[in-house]
Amino acid sequence: MENNSNILYAFLELQQDLFFDKIPKEKYRYFIEESIKQGTNVYEEYKGEDILDLYEKNNIQIVIDPGDGEFYKVRLRAQFEFDKAGNHKVYIYRKSIDDLAKHIGMDFDTIMKMYLSHEFFHYDEMTKNRVVANQLDSVERAKILGKKLYARINRTSEIGAHIFAKLMMDLPYMPNYYDYLYLISLKELSSSYLENREAEVNNLLQL
Ligand SMILES: [Zn+2]
Repeated sequence: MENNSNILYAFLELQQDLFFDKIPKEKYRYFIEESIKQGTNVYEEYKGEDILDLYEKNNIQIVIDPGDGEFYKVRLRAQFEFDKAGNHKVYIYRKSIDDLAKHIGMDFDTIMKMYLSHEFFHYDEMTKNRVVANQLDSVERAKILGKKLYARINRTSEIGAHIFAKLMMDLPYMPNYYDYLYLISLKELSSSYLENREAEVNNLLQL
């Protein structure tokens, strides 16, 4: 069984899926455990490699943008781009990452590599045709005139990427933990937020 912090942060990610409400409760564990397993398996293939070397070997360009990656009010820290010429690029938004670093007491380099690892996972799942969400069960999202419509749970790819980044960087928590820490430091979330969520999730998953 996975450690409880992985389950908690995986679940918090899963909960943000567009079709979370369509997932039967008894399948929460399936989505969490399978995504964690896939992220871990990919890590096993790259274990011991340096993330910057992996970018070089795979010809993925790292572009450090001095800005804060704000587009349409959504602030980004990193972004993957696959352009028409077939080039792979990952944009790192320096200002956003500096801001995060300052608030959570981590250094720029570690956070940047954490994001690079996350984006590398997406590159890997796409180029190797093993997108996590596509490999897991779909959920029934609607029934129209007796015909069932299904949806993929795309957040499972995010869970895979988080676990991969956690393992590559040897971090104590999945990277989305640091987003919560950041929001708590900005007082957008209360200091007991994670504790409360943990109790709620443990209860829901009967841990
Ligand atoms: Zn992602």
